[in-house]
Amino acid sequence: MASRRELGSSGSSSSGFISPKLKCHCGNYAVVRTVKNGPNVGMKFYGCPKWPVTDCEFFQWVNWNMDNSNVNRDVEDVRFRLLEKDTVIGEKEIEINFMKETLKKVELKLKSKDEELKDTKKELSCTRIELMKASRNENIISLALFFSWVFFALLLVYLKA
Ligand SMILES: [Zn+2]
Repeated sequence: MASRRELGSSGSSSSGFISPKLKCHCGNYAVVRTVKNGPNVGMKFYGCPKWPVTDCEFFQWVNWNMDNSNVNRDVEDVRFRLLEKDTVIGEKEIEINFMKETLKKVELKLKSKDEELKDTKKELSCTRIELMKASRNENIISLALFFSWVFFALLLVYLKA
């Protein structure tokens, strides 16, 4: 799956564990992820399995207590915003790295194509040289043939005389 690679390891990581209970806004089972940088490092949360390739903003801390007071909720909300930022930054980094990788691959492919082209050109010039040599040889052979006939004719004339 592409999402696994895009999630990578530097932003947030998917543990691969799928919650049997929680479903995200787009109807998929939420996955548990760990925050990898920022003030919430090491904390686990449920998120959309398709993140970041989705508009689904489902988020829930693991061990989220629904009976939390409003104050705690506000704290969690601030934490969530911070984490969201960290996660987004992490995901962007991964996205950029992924793009860089893709670029590298394309460059490599281009290089190999360039070399292939060079090889083909070399082969072509080799073939041309061989062709030239061959036609030159043909000329030499026909010239030799011509002179041998002349010599033969002269020999006949000499013998008859
Ligand atoms: Zn979702």
